[in-house]
This record gives sequence, C-alpha cells and structure tokens, in this order.
Amino acid sequence: MSQALTSAVTVLPGVGKVRAAAYARLGISTVEQLLYHFPRAYENRGNIVTLATAPEGEKCATVLTVATEPRVTMIRRGMSLLKFRAYDDSGTAEITYFNQDFLRKSFVLGATYRFYGKVERFAGGRVKQFTLSSPAAEPWDEEKPLPSLYPVYPLTEGLSQKQIAQNIAAAMALTAENRGDVLPDDIRRDMGLSTLSYALRHIHTPADLPSLAIAKRRLIFDEFFRFSLGTAIMAKQARVACAVPCTAGDLSDFYRALPYRLTDAQQRVIGDIRRDMASEIPMRRIIVGDVGCGKTVCAAAAMLIAVQSGRQAMLMAPTEILARQHAADLSETFAPMGLRVALLIGATPASQKKAIYEALASPDPARRIDMVVGTHALLTEGVTLAAPGLVITDEQHRFGAGQRAALAEKNRDMHMLVMSATPIPRTMALMLYGDLDLSRIDEMPPGRQRVDTFTVGESYRERLQAFIRKQVAEGGQVYVVCPAIEERECEPGEVTLEELFSPDAASDTPPLKAAVTYAAELKEVLPELADRIAFLHGGMKSREKDDIMHRFAEGELKILVSTTVIEVGVNVPNACLMIVENAERFGLSQLHQLRGRVGRGKRKSYCVLVSDARGETARKRLETMRTTYDGYRIAEEDLALRGPGDFFRVGTGQTIRQSGGIRFRLADLCDENDGDLMTHAATAARTLLNQDPNLTEHPDLRRTVEDLFCVDSGTLS
Ligand code: ADP
Ligand code: MG
Repeated sequence: MSQALTSAVTVLPGVGKVRAAAYARLGISTVEQLLYHFPRAYENRGNIVTLATAPEGEKCATVLTVATEPRVTMIRRGMSLLKFRAYDDSGTAEITYFNQDFLRKSFVLGATYRFYGKVERFAGGRVKQFTLSSPAAEPWDEEKPLPSLYPVYPLTEGLSQKQIAQNIAAAMALTAENRGDVLPDDIRRDMGLSTLSYALRHIHTPADLPSLAIAKRRLIFDEFFRFSLGTAIMAKQARVACAVPCTAGDLSDFYRALPYRLTDAQQRVIGDIRRDMASEIPMRRIIVGDVGCGKTVCAAAAMLIAVQSGRQAMLMAPTEILARQHAADLSETFAPMGLRVALLIGATPASQKKAIYEALASPDPARRIDMVVGTHALLTEGVTLAAPGLVITDEQHRFGAGQRAALAEKNRDMHMLVMSATPIPRTMALMLYGDLDLSRIDEMPPGRQRVDTFTVGESYRERLQAFIRKQVAEGGQVYVVCPAIEERECEPGEVTLEELFSPDAASDTPPLKAAVTYAAELKEVLPELADRIAFLHGGMKSREKDDIMHRFAEGELKILVSTTVIEVGVNVPNACLMIVENAERFGLSQLHQLRGRVGRGKRKSYCVLVSDARGETARKRLETMRTTYDGYRIAEEDLALRGPGDFFRVGTGQTIRQSGGIRFRLADLCDENDGDLMTHAATAARTLLNQDPNLTEHPDLRRTVEDLFCVDSGTLS
C-alpha cells in the first residue's frame, strides 16, 4: 500500500493548516480521499462560439484578441477594477475583473486568449457591444490545442476550483508511481475496464468525452464492486451460528385446513424457509412477489415451523389495519390447533399490553404467547420473547431500510423473513436487499382473474353509480379510494388539507373528491344502501377502524369509502370493484396495489380509475394501468414517467442513495447501463469471495471496502 495515498493532504505543496481545514469540511483528509473528490460537472470549453452567437445567460467559450491595454482603476476603497477590450470577427467585448489586479500582466495587447464565461449583450452600445465579467482565460495557440473539458468540483468556503484542480494534479503526480490498482487484473480485463490510473486521470482532466466515459465506467464498477463485496462480507458475518434451529414442523394439518392447494411457487418458498430455519445460522430471507400471489400463507407456515419447534414468532405489519387482519387470520387458523396468538399495536390498552408482555416473556410454555402480530410498536416497546424464534416484516417497502437494520440488529439471533410486494428493478433490489437471500413467487394462484381496468371522467358519474348498485345487488362489495384528507404527512399522490379545501387553486387539476363528502354523497344517491356504506380514514380511532374493517370483511358493509389506509395487504375476497377517485394523484405502483385488493375471490372484478386530468403524463400513466397487469412492468413504467425521486423514497424519507450510509459518487442507480455494471460487479464480487472469503490476499481492496462502508478496519472480519 502506497504511503503517499494515506498521507495527509498537507504533504501537497500549497496545502497548509487553513486549506487542510477547508478540505476537512469536505470530508477529505488524505491524499487518496482528495483523488476521489470527483468533479460534480464539467465545463465544456471546447465548443467555441463567436460573441454574436453566444447563447443567452449561459457560460460559453470565445476566442478573443486583446484590443486595448488592460487598466486597473480603483472604483472604491479596497475595490479595484481591471478592464480591457477584446474582439473577434463578430464584435467587441469589454472584459472586467474585480479585485484581481494581478491578472493585468497576464493579458498582452494583440495576443489571443480563450475566454470562458457569460457573454452579456448591450442593446444600444456602439463600441461596447458585449461584456464578459471575470471569465476564465487561457492563452490561445492554434498549434497547441487546449483541453476542452474542465472539472467543476464541489466547493467549500476557502477553496477555489483552481486550488482544488492544482492540488489534485499534485496528488496525481505524487502517487503516480505506486497508486496500485485494487481491482484484480483478470476482472478488469474480463470487464473491459480501464486501469485505475487512467480512470483517475480522465475523471479529473478528461482528454475528451469518450475518455471521460471510459473513466466513469471503471470508477462506477469500482463503487458497485466494493459495495457488493461489503454487503456479501457483512451478510456472511451476520451469519454466525447463533439462532436456535427450528427443525420441527409437520405442516400437514395446516395444509389440510387451507381452502386451496399451494402453488408450486409457494411450496418452493416454504421449502427455502424450512431449510433456512433448520440451521443455527439465522435465516435472512426476503419473499418478493406481486400483489395477491399469496405471500401470507408462506409467512404463516414459517411461523408454525417456529412454534412447533418450541420457539415464538413475531409478525410486523406497516399499518394497524393490516396487523389486525393478520392477527385475526392467524388466530382463525392456529387457535383451533391450540396456539396462542396476540395483537400488539399502539392502540392496545395499557393493561392488556402489560399482560401480553408478560405472556411473551413467560418462562412457562403453557402460558406463553406463541405468535405476536403488530406494527413497529413491536420494535419500540418492551417486547421480550422468552423463546425468540422468527421475526417477519410484511410489506417491507413501507418500512425504512434503517428500520430493517434495527430489527436485524435487535434480533440478531432470530430467523428473519421479509415480504415485499413492491416490484423493484433489479439494481434496486440488489441495493436494498443485497444482504438477504431471495425467494420469488412468480406464479399467481390458479383461477386468478384479470381485474378489468377502466379510466373514466366525471361525466361517467351516473353510470358509475349504477355500476356500484349492480355489483352490490349481485352480492359483491366495493372499495372507493379517495386521496387522503387527514394524514399528517402527505404521501406522493395525496393532497394537503389546503389543496382539498381550495380545490380550484390550481385550475388544471380537477377538484378532489374528499372522502367525507364522497361518502355522504354516495349515501344520497344510493339511499337503499345508506347503512351499508362506511367511511374509513387514517385519523380515526383504531377501534372504529377495526370495527368498520371487520364489518366490511364480514360482508355486512357493502361499500367502503376510504383513504389509502387500505393500500397494503388487506384481504376481502368478496370485494369485486375498486374505484379510485382522482386517480392521477396516485403513483402507478400505488394504483397497482389498490387494484390488487379486488379480484381475490371468485367474483369477476373491476377497477375504475376516475380522473379528469388532461395532462399528457397523467393520461399516459392511466393508460399504462389500463393495459398492464404485471407489477414489475408497472414499476418500470412508473420509474420512467415519474423519475426516481418518489419511487425510491424508502419509508423514513431516506433515499436508496443513502441507504445504509453508502454514498455512490458516480453511479446512477436508475441508469440502465449502470444497472448492468452492478450485476456484473456483484457476480465478480461473489467469484472473488469464493477464492478469498475475507479478502486477506487483497488487503488494499479490503481497505477500500471498509472505507466505503465507513467502518473501522477489523469490523468486516
Ligand atoms: P399477498 O402476496 O399480496 O400478500 P395474500 O397472501 O394476501 O397476497 O393472498 C391473496 C389471496 O390469495 C388470499 O385471499 C389468499 O387466501 C389467496 N391464496 C393464497 N394462496 C392461494 C392458492 N395457492 N390458491 C388459491 N388462493 C390462494
Ligand atoms: Mg400481503
């Protein structure tokens, strides 16, 4: 390992205490860190325009000849102005620099320079047609072309572009001899990647765009490669034999009690789980599969395996409604088998909570609660299990990556299962779930029908009401989803109170259907069903929500008007019509989730998206919903139409970019080419780790991995 790389930036000429402190503010203390301080952009000074054709308000390059002797005048005390004229074939510009007298000697009358800066025009001037203030300037020589791409670095107070560029050039020279390429040569060649030296040189001072692209590709690969190595090593490390093997599990009674046969995919997943749980090495597995593919039953099987092995199981859901439903379903299945299932949520009365805590921690297996279902309250409250076995999180995408990490940390010795219906692109899956083994349910239960989807406007209102009446008359049930009204934080696709009460504030957005008014309206137009319509929203008391959900599930209520609180997970097989009001307000993946609430039983089901939005994007998005049923394709479409911003909000508002504290400097996770590189990097990492599991033979590489994960050396062992 080269000494020069790890030495402090102060070894570089011109870097003293003050500048080192400025660098420290950028998180840079060593020469190597400086080399990895990449430009955030590049100025293209190679594209030379004339003064007359200079674009408005944009920096550009001009080649001008100095026409007047540069003069310095004092304009105020302590303020000087350096001024001269320069021309090209198209006109003359006045060039000014404030407080930079020293530049006077740099400009020679009659000599030619390349200037880079904003060219401003003067409408009425005769001689002074254009001005350029404080442009960058370099002597111009036809024979010796100047580089065209100039790096633009992220700055901090006390550092200029020029200083950084100079220091980096010095750092490059200092380390040129032994910069060492941490990427094994065979991998580099197989992947057709440049050397590290080439990449560093051209990322800072690219010869041209193709060289920059080559440099970037290499450095992006490095980021992914190190990320993959790090996650793989950490995942393995988490897998020390510290869990209690759950080897029991005669699931035949359970299977017999199911009203259906498991699909092959479900059986395969349960097989994966069974194998994982039989080990002392804790399971870390994620089940992904489109809405309605039947993940819950796999979770239930896993819980049963744990309990039959004398352990306890915990199931965490993102909403209270879903937690309640899971608890009810599990009780129904497992209570007859003599198992004890409890629900623990924020709303659980204190006395009951206390009893649950005690029963969970009870040393006496006869008194012990076997399965507990809840929201993240399970994480934060005083839950101690007497015989920890399995922890499951449902609809993982609703929790933050951080919450999962906390969960894994808190329950290091438990088997862990994660379920997610969010179809995310491959690269994302690797980033988010790289530390988990993956089981995919790629098959829908048989007889699953396609939910016919329509998009209609306000003018269809009457016909829609008739359709609701018909569905209910035939014994079906109906969901109506309106944008949220009372949730404190606005989800994408939801609205603020303010917007709601001044619906016409933005004239191109159609008025919002408030869930409250909607329910009232519906009762008026469907008087015969008035007492079969209920209204549900996030701000209601849990007991009320619970009661309404229960009455809807039992079929007593026919129409449920709600905000997106029903978005995830709930299961009412008799529901056959999903109406989404102001559908343009919802993300595609959200709409897909909503649509997944119907078509779960035998009834022919429909999804009606109501929207009067006329915008091009809105139209395209709704069209996608009408024609696409594959959650993964919808997610990709969503990504393409909305951009990654919303899509990658990971629960707590953190984005994937920051997930787990990893920051990618160059890689763009939404870029398809980068996605391919990521996959290759992951494969290469796996191959290397097979040969050298702890990177003992690649100490420099190992160190860079530790750097990326901001961990101290030794942590990854
Ligand atoms: P998700 O994967 O979205 O969580 P669920 O587990 O809620 O889906 O299952 C959706 C519906 O499919 C439920 O009504 C469930 O009972 C039913 N189901 C699950 N597996 C099968 C199967 N193999 N055959 C028929 N229906 C099934
Ligand atoms: Mg589910």
